Amino acid sequence: MCCQHNGSTKDIRGRGGLKATDQSWSYHCFNCGYTASFILGRSVMFKARRLLTWMGVPDNEIEMLNLESLRHRSIHGILEERQQTWNILNGITFEERDLPPYAELLMPEHTQYWDYVCGRHVPEDFPVMVQIENDGIHWIRPHVVIPFTYDDKVVGYTCRFLDNRQPKFISDSQPGYVFGTDSQPTDWQHVVVTEGIFDALSIGGVAVMHNTISDAQARLIRSLGREVTVVPDQDTAGVELIDRAVELGWAVSIPDWPADCKDVNDAVIKLGRLGALLTIMQSREISKIKIELRKKALVKRIRT
Ligand SMILES: [Zn+2]
Repeated sequence: MCCQHNGSTKDIRGRGGLKATDQSWSYHCFNCGYTASFILGRSVMFKARRLLTWMGVPDNEIEMLNLESLRHRSIHGILEERQQTWNILNGITFEERDLPPYAELLMPEHTQYWDYVCGRHVPEDFPVMVQIENDGIHWIRPHVVIPFTYDDKVVGYTCRFLDNRQPKFISDSQPGYVFGTDSQPTDWQHVVVTEGIFDALSIGGVAVMHNTISDAQARLIRSLGREVTVVPDQDTAGVELIDRAVELGWAVSIPDWPADCKDVNDAVIKLGRLGALLTIMQSREISKIKIELRKKALVKRIRT
């Protein structure tokens, strides 16, 4: 319902996605890129009004919705508005980017891709995409596309290739970006910081996508206002992340996972999401000395 109003041809493949909770909804069209959202307790904003109009909702009904929404104006809404102002004042913004051409929403009938994504315990409501058609010039290696969003805008993506060739990932990412902040429910008190996208997706955490955390990324993670727990990969590279977490004054968790679990995603596959989360919270350390001891034990384990 949006594309023809935005200079694109009408979409016939149902690429508009609607995500709704009991308090809000957000819309994103993967064809023309139109986004709009609504949160109970706030005004119906310009883009949401346009979308509703295109859907055939009369102006007076939109106005009624607006008034009804403002009756539910809550402390939550006010706090979130302050958070957004804070983000802008602190320069935490990312430019809007396009997804790769021909990307479409992953469906169960894309068997090979679907099985891969389910096997890695990605939540079913996360909009994983696939790019099956090629552009007629390039041969496309089979892959899934994970959109990067911030404040519900697409700001980049990564392609995860499913053949066993290198590179495994090709990404379009902006400096300071942290994956998964949009998926953090407002009432959670903790945030789990991981290295990889699939670690973050499977545990409901965020990913820094490297084995270190840049200053800009640290600012963004702090802006969430949660108790932070960094969970490094249990390999040589992960040790660097531990040192950086200690520098930032954040808690670190190095659980004693089964031998074949090297990262959060392995642990979720082996123990389930709740099981993995329990091991993470049980091994959470704040004291620098205890983290140092855990790190030494990990280094020893890696060597043997
Ligand atoms: Zn559209």
